[in-house]
Amino acid sequence: MHELSLVQSILDIIENYRKEHNFFKVNYLKLSFGELSCVNKDSLKFAFDMLSKGTVAENAEIYFSIIPATITCNVCKETFNSVEDYSKCPKCNSNDIFLSAGFDELKLMEIDVEI
Ligand SMILES: [Zn+2]
Repeated sequence: MHELSLVQSILDIIENYRKEHNFFKVNYLKLSFGELSCVNKDSLKFAFDMLSKGTVAENAEIYFSIIPATITCNVCKETFNSVEDYSKCPKCNSNDIFLSAGFDELKLMEIDVEI
């Protein structure tokens, strides 16, 4: 499961942060990932519950923000969110487009701790 290693790297970041700031509990954390990344929210939650046991992040609330898939058209220079067809521009029908957002891997955006 891909999510296990993602969650482990988030927990490593939290652990490093704990060493610097010396807190004893994580209240919540905010994670973000792209709509097109191969991240599954339920698997993520499951992996987190499993791997955070015995760490300062155990029982922390997790909030997700999902970055919508965005394409940008090289012809009309417009960007579009969450389109159904990623192969052409919804406005000018050009296929000279590229994915400009939404494929980001898991990122830790915010962490709230108790000191
Ligand atoms: Zn276009």
